[in-house]
This record gives sequence, C-alpha cells and structure tokens, in this order.
Amino acid sequence: MLIVMKADASQDDIKRVLEVIEHLGFKPHSLPGENRTAIGITGNNGAVDPTHFENLSGVAEAIRVTKPYKLISKDLRPEKSIVKVGNSTVGGNELAVIAGPCAIENAEQVFSVAQAVSESGAKFFRGGAFKPRTSPYAFQGMGEDGLKILAEVREQFGLNIVTEAMDNYGIDLVEKYGDCIQIGARNMQNFSLLKYVGQTRKPILLKRGLSATLDEFLLAAEYIMAEGNYDVILCERGIRTFADHARNTLDLSIVPAVQRISHLPIIVDPSHGTGRNFMVNPMARAGVAVGADGLIIEVHSKPEEALCDGAQALTPKQYLELFEQVKAIHEVISTEKMTLDNSISFS
Ligand code: PEP
Ligand code: MN
Repeated sequence: MLIVMKADASQDDIKRVLEVIEHLGFKPHSLPGENRTAIGITGNNGAVDPTHFENLSGVAEAIRVTKPYKLISKDLRPEKSIVKVGNSTVGGNELAVIAGPCAIENAEQVFSVAQAVSESGAKFFRGGAFKPRTSPYAFQGMGEDGLKILAEVREQFGLNIVTEAMDNYGIDLVEKYGDCIQIGARNMQNFSLLKYVGQTRKPILLKRGLSATLDEFLLAAEYIMAEGNYDVILCERGIRTFADHARNTLDLSIVPAVQRISHLPIIVDPSHGTGRNFMVNPMARAGVAVGADGLIIEVHSKPEEALCDGAQALTPKQYLELFEQVKAIHEVISTEKMTLDNSISFS
C-alpha cells in the first residue's frame, strides 16, 4: 500500500497517517517529494484495507502495490532521488566520480592517488580496507588501519570516502570512518548484512551481484530501504557471461532499465566491469552517455605493483584524461536532457 498525500497536506496530516499505519502494526516510510509526500507501508503480510486512509485529511489516494518492490519505485517517488554523501551528492545535476585504488595498501600510495583525484575536481575517494578476495591467501586489506588512512584523506583533501564493508564489524567501522558504505557484488544478496546496513544512517553504495537480475538487484536495495535507510546508490559493475575477452560483461542496459522503475541513482563501474586497463576509459564514456549518475574508477600510481586489481587500474594520468572526457560527455547529455528524457526524436 502506498499513501499519496495531497500537495497541500499539512505536517499534521502526514503525522496522522504515520500514526494510523503504526497503530495497524505496520512500518511507515515517508518520502517527501518535490510536489507531494508519499508514504510507503511495509511489514504487512496481506493487502492493507485502503479505507483506513481514504478519508483522512490530506490524503489524495491509497494505492495497492502489486509489484514486488515498493520503496525503490517511482510510484512512491516520481522524481529522482539525490543522495547526500558527506559534503556532496550523487544523483543531482553533477556527474559523481568516485576514484581511488582498489585496496588501501599504505599511506604513501593512497596519498599520491588522492592528490590526482582531488586535482581532477572529483568529490569522492574510494579504496577498500576490507577486500573480498577469491583466494584466502591473497591480500585481504588493512582493516581499521586502512580506514584511518582514508579518514586522513578526507581531512587533507576534503574528499568524501566510499569504502566497502563485508560484515557487521566492518559496517560499524566504516560508519565511524567513512562517508558511504559500499556493499560489494558478492554480498548483494547477503540479506542479514543488507538489513544491518539498512539500520545505519550512512548512504549505501550497492553493487550489482555477479549474476543478479534487475529484480534481484532492486529487491536488494529494497531490503536496505525497508529498514529505514533510503540513501541507496546502485552500481552496475559487470556480470558473468560466456564472454572471455573481459573480466566481466558491463551491462549498461541496466541503467535505463533501473531508471524506468526506480528513483534511485545508479552509477557505473567500468573497472570491475571490464577488468582491463584499455577498456576502462571507453566503457566509462559509454556509461556516462547512457545516462548514469556517476562512475567509480580504480586508480593506482604503480598499477604493476598493485596488491589487488592492478590489471584494471588506471594511472593518475590516464584517470585525469578520463575525467576530462567524461565531463565533456556529461555536459552534452545534460544539455540534451529534455530531449533524451522525452525519448522522442532529435530534429
Ligand atoms: C571493489 O569495488 O573493489 C570491489 C571488490 O567491487 P565488486 O564488489 O564489484 O567486485
Ligand atoms: Mn577492485
């Protein structure tokens, strides 16, 4: 059930609807929008009787939701969500570029990359302190010491920190040191982790699982939002296919597919999406052209010495070139946006 409030509904009207939902034993999710507030209801097993709401002051409509998702949906919030991350945003007019090494290896490495990221004008820095590695013998990340280095990067460069957590312990730490908690592809369907992270009030970067369908991806975001954390950013990072010329197949068609259904911002990761240095720039350009809200890019000052994902890392110089190119494409997209959104024709 979705309660759509009238444009002129008062705060008291909204409060009353929330009380009625709670009184029925369900959980209300109020999402104020540009023109009206909509309130989603979760926690109900069967259909909710709309007559509980239809005659309340300020209520425009009580709509039954027949789709598997409620809170991620444009039915709840027709306009795009802008997610605040630290002192910046993802999903607004500006292209959000998150760049940095795959893993935090040491302070020197991190600071040299942070210098380039800051120079480019990007607002976000990435780097893993907890690394999900295929082999238990591969470098697993620096843990809390790595997060401390990231906190210094924020201090020194004013960059907002995006970093992965793999368990509840990591989430508590990233909440303390970082600005955005990344849930990696391998954990996209770790439902207890999604519920836990949904209870934090930090924005979440949710990466698409290696073989997740659109519905599975959106329902993973729904898990987080159902706990009351509405600040979710989706990320396409490539899926497993038969193709073996790249590490993964970057599925850019998921961007418009998500945007048709959901108000959540979506960014593209051409680094993990291709796994190969020479493919990162062209696929980053394509990601921006397809309408993504941002990019996440791996950068290393000496890719050949990287402890993790060196084959896909860009050098700072390559990264700066990429940044200029995607910025130019984004400007064109923004100018053409009205035409593109209407998806009709170019005269
Ligand atoms: C990463 O961003 O470093 C990472 C491990 O990504 P993914 O979960 O997409 O593999
Ligand atoms: Mn990586």
